[in-house]
Amino acid sequence: MKRRINFFKDYLTERFGHALYRIPIDLGLGCPHKNINNHGCIYCAEDGARAIHLQRVLDIREQVREGIKYVNNRYSDSQGNYIAYLQTYTNTYGNIDKLKSLYETVLSSANFTMLMLSTRPDCLNEEILEYISELNKSIETWVEIGVQTSNNRTLSMINRQHDFQSVINASAKLNLAGVKSSAHIMIGLPGETMSDYIQTVNDVCSLGFTGIKLHNTLILKNSYLGKLFNTSSVITPDSVEIKGIFSIPKFNEYEYIDLLIKLLRIIPEDKVIMRLTADAEEKNILFPKWHIPKPKILETLFSIMEERNLAQGDSVGQKIESDDSFLKIKTSDSSFTFYNPLFKENYHSTSGGLSEALYKFVSPSNLPKRLAIKRELTLLDVGFGLGYNALTALNEINKLGGTVRITSLELDESSLKLAQSLFQTSSCEYKILESLRKQNRYSDTRSSIELILGDARTASLPSTIKFDLIYLDAFSTQKNSELWTYDFIRGLSSLLYADGAIITYSASFAVRGAFIRCGMFVGTTEPFGRKNGGTIASFNKEIIESPLSEKDMNIILKSTAGTPYRDTSLKSSNNEILVRHEKLIRKLRLKGIPKWYK
Ligand code: SF4
Repeated sequence: MKRRINFFKDYLTERFGHALYRIPIDLGLGCPHKNINNHGCIYCAEDGARAIHLQRVLDIREQVREGIKYVNNRYSDSQGNYIAYLQTYTNTYGNIDKLKSLYETVLSSANFTMLMLSTRPDCLNEEILEYISELNKSIETWVEIGVQTSNNRTLSMINRQHDFQSVINASAKLNLAGVKSSAHIMIGLPGETMSDYIQTVNDVCSLGFTGIKLHNTLILKNSYLGKLFNTSSVITPDSVEIKGIFSIPKFNEYEYIDLLIKLLRIIPEDKVIMRLTADAEEKNILFPKWHIPKPKILETLFSIMEERNLAQGDSVGQKIESDDSFLKIKTSDSSFTFYNPLFKENYHSTSGGLSEALYKFVSPSNLPKRLAIKRELTLLDVGFGLGYNALTALNEINKLGGTVRITSLELDESSLKLAQSLFQTSSCEYKILESLRKQNRYSDTRSSIELILGDARTASLPSTIKFDLIYLDAFSTQKNSELWTYDFIRGLSSLLYADGAIITYSASFAVRGAFIRCGMFVGTTEPFGRKNGGTIASFNKEIIESPLSEKDMNIILKSTAGTPYRDTSLKSSNNEILVRHEKLIRKLRLKGIPKWYK
């Protein structure tokens, strides 16, 4: 398989024949830039990025012992293959004799194969350079330089107190000394955009660095930025505005992956990639609160690069076009979904795209029971998306010997093309999607699907039509509130047969509140891929197998949590609906209705 990214672990394997493991060590040197009068760089945690197991400051030999124990417990092939990793604070700060003594203590504490130390670009004097160069003759030594950005305005804003020229100088000095170096770049610094990241990557790649480390900006609890965040911050759709001074760009996991891929493609393939994500204890991160674990982010990045046949360095020197890509994502049941850049959400849960259709929609439909009463069912599918719900229902109903007439509503025509790319051209699903794309209609002897494109709120359905089942599968309430309002749901409920049911993945109290206020009985469906199940609502109490608990009913009816979204004109934008909802909740709170019912 083609190597898509030139990772540090690949470099190590080629160079030493096996992996090496970092043993983090804190020399206790502190940082020249951080003292009682200066908080240092605005994002820097009080502990200067100390490793988790070093939270108790230990003697150097003890740190090495603990670090080796930790690594050996985690990796079976780590015995004797260690990197002395001096990452905390500024590891070239101090008197040369003191530094020599500390480095020698480190290197005599275990049989290290490599030494790696991080520092500021303006903290490399002739004496330390000469010493590092000497050390490099007996143990391969790498120096990691905190660059962050090549934009001097940003460097000043984040209080780095050095400019990019310092980086150019540091890189030149290390090259001259024959010492390998890597550059640490941060993505998402205040006020920066894609053009800044591209500029920084290009500027850094033009210097003599062997490695590049990229990571997203984190707002950490015990940093200067974190303290400001806690006192005054406003989260907008695109940024976090802190104190009206720092505007931190906001991107979710998929936007970050997309951005990383673009940057990797302009990094020459011989540059070693040291890291691609930030590392901090979850409890210390104030922002962003991502839900996808780090390994999954990397797994998704690899699968997208593989799928699109992209590689590090394949666009060096070319202009990066900004595109709104639909990222293809492999979910846990091996089916694929896409990330929709307009709604900034996936079409399906990463727990399983097809499984979600089956467990959150088709299973709660209780098809065997319905088909025992009548052999032909009608289904309204709100949010066709990639078609998983409609296609799965159609298959299951046909397997049970029934027939189904499906009406699907979809805003975005392009989702059909995406959906088709997920199936073999010879498959039934592909043919159905092809027919829907060409004629907005598919039918065979046992089933039919009618596709209505456009805003579901204004879709014109035959006035006589009634449905046994309605699947409500819009994007989330925060991204697509238009399809979660009381007004829209009331319209849907009027399309149900008396025994019909509306089924949705949503467990939102506001949505359940809308069903209840339409006079429906409401229950939960079996959970899949998360703690809470979805929702089923019907005018027939018998249809609801697991009614909402008394506590949930109280939350919905006696607190503002269950206040439905409103859109009486059925024309409001997502933002208008959310703002209106916020205002209504504030009013209710002033009238004494609690936020939550305990
Ligand atoms: S130079 Fe490094 S250690 Fe010093 S304040 Fe900045 S981030 Fe923290």
